[in-house]
Amino acid sequence: MRVLKFGGSSLASAERFRQVADIIKDKSELSKIAVVVSAPQGVTNHLVAMAENISDEAKLETDLGHFKRAITTIVDDLSASIEGFNHLHCEQALTNYEQQLSRFMHGATLLTYCPDHIRARIISTGERLSVAILEAVLQSYGEKVSVLAPEKFLYTSNSPLNAVADLVLSKDKFKNEYSDLANISLMPGFFGVNDESGQQQITTLGRNGSDYSAAVLAVCSDAECCEIWTDVDGVYNADPRFIKEAKLLDYLSYQEAMELSYFGASVLHPKTIGPIAQYHIPCLIKNTNNPSAPGTLISKDNDQQQRVKAISNLDDLTMVNVSGPGMKGMVGMASRVFATMSRKNISLVLISQSSSEYSISFCIYSSDAELAKQSLQEEFELELLNGLLEPLSLKTDLSIVSLVGDGMHHQRGVAAKFFSSLAQARVNVVAIAQDSSERSISVVIEQKQCMDAMKVSHQNFFSKQPTIDVFLVGCGVVGSELIAQISRQQESLKEQNIALTVYGIANSKGMVVNKEGIDLDNWQDAMANATDVLPVSAESLKEFVSDNNLINPVLVDSTSNEALAMSYVSYLAEGFHVVTPNKKANTDSWEYYQELRTTAQETNRRFLYETTVGAGLPVIDTLQGLIKAGDKLQRFEGILSGSLSYLFGMLEEGMTVSEATAIAKEKGFTEPDPRDDLSGMDVARKLLIMARESGMQLEISDINIEPVLPNDFDDSGDVDTFMGNLTKLDAEFSERVAVAKAEGKVLRYIGNIVDGKCQVSIEAVGADHPLYSIKDGENALAIHSRYYQPLPFVLRGYGAGAAVTAAGVFGDILRTLAWEQQH
Ligand code: ADP
Ligand code: ASP
Ligand code: MG
Repeated sequence: MRVLKFGGSSLASAERFRQVADIIKDKSELSKIAVVVSAPQGVTNHLVAMAENISDEAKLETDLGHFKRAITTIVDDLSASIEGFNHLHCEQALTNYEQQLSRFMHGATLLTYCPDHIRARIISTGERLSVAILEAVLQSYGEKVSVLAPEKFLYTSNSPLNAVADLVLSKDKFKNEYSDLANISLMPGFFGVNDESGQQQITTLGRNGSDYSAAVLAVCSDAECCEIWTDVDGVYNADPRFIKEAKLLDYLSYQEAMELSYFGASVLHPKTIGPIAQYHIPCLIKNTNNPSAPGTLISKDNDQQQRVKAISNLDDLTMVNVSGPGMKGMVGMASRVFATMSRKNISLVLISQSSSEYSISFCIYSSDAELAKQSLQEEFELELLNGLLEPLSLKTDLSIVSLVGDGMHHQRGVAAKFFSSLAQARVNVVAIAQDSSERSISVVIEQKQCMDAMKVSHQNFFSKQPTIDVFLVGCGVVGSELIAQISRQQESLKEQNIALTVYGIANSKGMVVNKEGIDLDNWQDAMANATDVLPVSAESLKEFVSDNNLINPVLVDSTSNEALAMSYVSYLAEGFHVVTPNKKANTDSWEYYQELRTTAQETNRRFLYETTVGAGLPVIDTLQGLIKAGDKLQRFEGILSGSLSYLFGMLEEGMTVSEATAIAKEKGFTEPDPRDDLSGMDVARKLLIMARESGMQLEISDINIEPVLPNDFDDSGDVDTFMGNLTKLDAEFSERVAVAKAEGKVLRYIGNIVDGKCQVSIEAVGADHPLYSIKDGENALAIHSRYYQPLPFVLRGYGAGAAVTAAGVFGDILRTLAWEQQH
């Protein structure tokens, strides 16, 4: 004997009913079966809404019509597709139940009140119709079917809307009533009966309760297995609706299944496991749409293999906090709080008490919040009046996220990993609970952060595929090279199990976004054809990030835009990492420089700018590492500009300054306007960054700059005019080069830090100087420090160019992964 339960999702249409009948037919060839059915999908919701809205007669008729249409559509479709379908049987059942429903509803409307036991009858009508329809389909297949009536045996507690079955009594009644079962029996799920009032009254088992009906029937009929047929292949390690990477579980122990369903895995009603665990009946979760899939087996076997088996989430909760000086040491306070809840039939989802006994907090379903507040206020009226208790506080819109697994028992590090995942998702924990069997750890958090918490925890415990969600601003030379590099590396990143997706690319018009990620091979087309762009602001990108539950957003700024640099703090505050080669932010005021760092620290986000000095050369990271290890900068000198390195190299070869600048410009080594390089400002900014990294509190105005162009040189006009005027400097520069050469020296444009002072200037250096041979666009940085002396630590290599800069930015993007994900 096997019990099979089909849920509403398996009975949503005529085709689904036929699918279910096929499965029943196949299974009944192997053993006797008893089938429990739920209402067709959506029907119970509709009935519940009807029973709640009893004030309006006119609406009642519309609602009844709606109900009737939902059933008639299925019945008519079955008549059209099955030859010999017993349409009349269904029609009679529908008329019968519709009349009954109408009587109850009109009665309640007159009374302006719907008693719970009447409500229970109303909302369980859908199950009765499912039985009638399925019976007709099976009969048309030539099957003999008998119907089991829960009223005759499924005895429950006297709580009409959330009853608990009396297993012993029900088993006894069942034996008397159904001593010899037909090959196929059908039973409506979701309700039972109670006769404590001396009158038989229908009770429902709680929403989603047909699973529980099946479990009770399995116990009553001594079934060898209880099969729950639904719309997924089994139980996944997280709700597959929200977590795309969720994995199917082959096995679960009763305890694991109990914890999971209790904490929100709606694939099973939480009360289902109790009976089958008590009577050691295995339970199989199967997919009606994919009957050949093996499904998930829930049994007594305890699985110690895997530490954490699954993660679940439960929404729409409210946290009640009862606190005050009167709580301390006062015997019986907790029991009064909980007794009040129990009297009102309010179930407590999770309890936490502070060890000071000053307060008790517990979570309840938000639908019970008003009632809970009122009844606690009545119970503690005196204490509240006398200030022994503080006013009750209720926090709504909460969720619980739980980790579940038999193997978590006695394992260290699970909680730590869970909490660091929550920190990574920037989720604030409201309360924590762990049962002493260590089979589950639960946290209460704000509901709006629930998906982020689920996603990161699932990633860290199971898929181990961290995500990086990139928003690129600026698609000039560096930006477009970066896109090309990311595109080329996709395969290799996948092999390393990293999912890097570019969700947005912005130019001066705004940001083009795509929630599936932008196709990096055709991004120019996406930009050109975009009709809808987002403004580039922390608020608008944050909205996109929350709508799509992105958990590791990174703003990549490849512009030299000042306004954007000044908004990094808001991006960091909204949860973005910021990666940039733009020097503007780090060279603004010291206050802003500090604010960026404190915000990043507070929000647990990274601000990375390795490419602001020396492009792809590992300058910043190296310097930070040295300083952290206790080193101290004593002196610094460096060639920090690729364009000026090229230019001075050309002068050394005998070229005039105007020729050298023109060639450098033509080759793309300079900024579009070479004055930006020749002003020395770019080098000064890099030097300031180096100085600040070394702990010096300086401003850009503290840097002593000798521009390449003499101060009295007229550099006005457009670029061409300027380039033309440059010839006026040729003689002077050639002379300086010649004088240096006569002394065995060359001219270099050098940034210096000496005795706490920064200077950028043209220097003549000899062959023994570390920067003597640096030209052709190379950068070199000589760090003289407490550890590196008398010889300095020297970094040398191309310090400009799209490829090396983009590669450096790419490296920074990858560093936004939490450290444990980088290994
Ligand atoms: P039925 O109508 O068959 O009773 P339900 O909607 O009640 O179906 O339950 C099945 C749904 O449970 C699935 O479609 C899935 O969205 C949801 N669900 C939540 N958590 C899980 C989980 N861990 N594994 C599988 N399904 C889950
Ligand atoms: N039809 C009922 C409900 O929707 C019972 C069930 O589906 O299990 O709650
Ligand atoms: Mg269900």
